[in-house]
Amino acid sequence: MEIINSLKEMQQKVLNLKKENQEIGFVPTMGYFHEGHLSLMERAKLENDILIVSIFVNPLQFGPDEDYDHYPRDSKRDYQLAEELGVDIIFAPSVEEMYPQELSLTLQVKERNDVLCARSRPTHFDGVVTVLAKLFNIILPNRVYFGMKDAQQVAVVNGLIHDLNFPTQLIGLPTVRENSGLAKSSRNVNLSDAEKIEAEWLYKSLIQAKDMINAGETDPDRIIGQIKNLLENHTNGEIDYVEILAFPSLNSIKMIDTLIIIAVAVKFEKARLIDNILINKDGQVVDVFVQGRE
Ligand code: AMP
Repeated sequence: MEIINSLKEMQQKVLNLKKENQEIGFVPTMGYFHEGHLSLMERAKLENDILIVSIFVNPLQFGPDEDYDHYPRDSKRDYQLAEELGVDIIFAPSVEEMYPQELSLTLQVKERNDVLCARSRPTHFDGVVTVLAKLFNIILPNRVYFGMKDAQQVAVVNGLIHDLNFPTQLIGLPTVRENSGLAKSSRNVNLSDAEKIEAEWLYKSLIQAKDMINAGETDPDRIIGQIKNLLENHTNGEIDYVEILAFPSLNSIKMIDTLIIIAVAVKFEKARLIDNILINKDGQVVDVFVQGRE
């Protein structure tokens, strides 16, 4: 496995691979790997000639009061896990390498930016699309892999790829969970033992919502009310949002009769957790989202 820190070197490497007609699979990450990250890499490894994984904690996508400075990092362990998995190249640039000076332009997400995480993190997705546009231009991936745990990110990246015509396929893969149902997240290390148990209620409440739909409930407000009750009764966290929207447009809906996302965010003492499920119009859970050219 090669570890590349220099942007120029990464670009040159990619251009050589392209000359050899190698298909590139790309998994962008902020590191501190867990099974969620590894599941994306495993799939990307199967579907491409070369697997490139980036590790970059992108300051642009953190708000001023967010956890950029406390975001967990462990590059040595990450490199070891990536090597074991068969990653070909780790691209781990410094902040100075990615942003040597202030950008002379900005990318701003217009759609899907007034719902879910964007409401409490108003500049987050602008930072995400900016870094991804740069990374896509450096890595020139045939396929990019994201986790559906961050479903709004998948929807926004779908817009980015479409609007800016990146010739890449978007593959959103299932959320990997602990046995308890808690979605794996680098931020789970910031939960206390008690909060870890409370946090199981994010997924439990989503499953109960699904059961309500399967029992014939079509009113989003009644389902949202039930989820809020469960979260309030079983956690000491502060509910950031509970929303039911059409997917991937993230438009609001009056009735459940299309592919929907049920999404929750809860703030615990030192970690804000998110989770979601997608349910199609037949009431079945959908955990993969693929868009773009094959
Ligand atoms: P991050 O390092 O948090 O930016 O995550 C990198 C990628 O891993 C993103 O596409 C995430 O959606 C994905 N990811 C994070 N947690 C999980 C999980 N529990 N299951 C599947 N994918 C995940």
